[in-house]
Amino acid sequence: MKAVELYAPGKVRLRDDAAIPEPASGEVRIKVLAAGICGTDVHICSGDPSMSDLIAPPVILGHEFCGHIDSLGDAVSQEIAVGDYVSAEMHEVCYDCPACKHKQFHACAKTKIRGVSLPGAFADYVIVSASNVVKLPAELPPKVGAILDPLGNAVHTALKVPVEGRKVGVIGFGPIGAMCAEVVSFAGAEKIFILDVSDNALGRAREWAERRQLHDRVVLMDAKEADVVEQVIAMTGGGTDVTLEISGNPIGINNALQMTRAAGDVVNLGLPKADQVCLDGFGKNFIFRGLTMHAVIGREMFKTWDRMLELLRAGLDVGHFVTAEIALEDFSKGLDRFSKGLEGKVVMYPGGAPA
Ligand SMILES: [Zn+2]
Ligand SMILES: [Zn+2]
Repeated sequence: MKAVELYAPGKVRLRDDAAIPEPASGEVRIKVLAAGICGTDVHICSGDPSMSDLIAPPVILGHEFCGHIDSLGDAVSQEIAVGDYVSAEMHEVCYDCPACKHKQFHACAKTKIRGVSLPGAFADYVIVSASNVVKLPAELPPKVGAILDPLGNAVHTALKVPVEGRKVGVIGFGPIGAMCAEVVSFAGAEKIFILDVSDNALGRAREWAERRQLHDRVVLMDAKEADVVEQVIAMTGGGTDVTLEISGNPIGINNALQMTRAAGDVVNLGLPKADQVCLDGFGKNFIFRGLTMHAVIGREMFKTWDRMLELLRAGLDVGHFVTAEIALEDFSKGLDRFSKGLEGKVVMYPGGAPA
């Protein structure tokens, strides 16, 4: 079968002779319909040393996808049948660590990720555990089915605390930040303050707000301006109720703490490049103001997936985040454009790009 394989650190090739995998007991094989390229793939393919502990080449990449069940291993529940249209949670968890024992599987200490440390979905076929399969409604377009993993990150982040009727900050308008903004807008946030340092990102945010006719609810802020925090505090009369930190930049992380009102919530998804982040005025800005900080990892299994499918059924529109649909064979081109920030999400089709 065709497969995009990382064969050495930072080195990728397209194979057409990879073995079609067989599902073991409790597993299913899925014929991949569409798969999304993620920022994580960019890090992996550039040989980013921060990924080296997680990944052991050779491995087939790809952890965002949808497809049809093609073959069942033994001991698979009768709810799953060949032909089902599905996606899957690619975090394979241990069911035994303290987090798993508390049913907080998303935070499993021994998570293995298909497409990172186990073979993934940039291929004609992928194997997943039957318990990780998520059935999709037939009317969901494949390009949306292919991006449910990052949309799940966004839904998990955006709805970590209630946002309806609230003033919400979103720091970082990359693909996940943009999805977060879409979700909090859909969920009825009163005002959304979007901060980014990139003019391109702010341009995309402006286009989105115009298209959605959200001028009165969305405020775009250039985070390069030194007094951006003071501006948000002035405009909100004391700070946002909730701030979603997606940038992972230490300045963004500090801005999130400082622009959130006393007793408000800061939700952190963005990963800083360095191991350490210095929080300015930890007492003054965090403790004395009684803030709550939340860390988001992955998607809650399977609450986030249920919530996400509910939102999509209710009309949440995310197809526009996909700006390129290409054949799997054009992986290198797609990765290159995505890594340069020229595309939103890039979705690949093993069966060839849609006409
Ligand atoms: Zn991803
Ligand atoms: Zn576990």
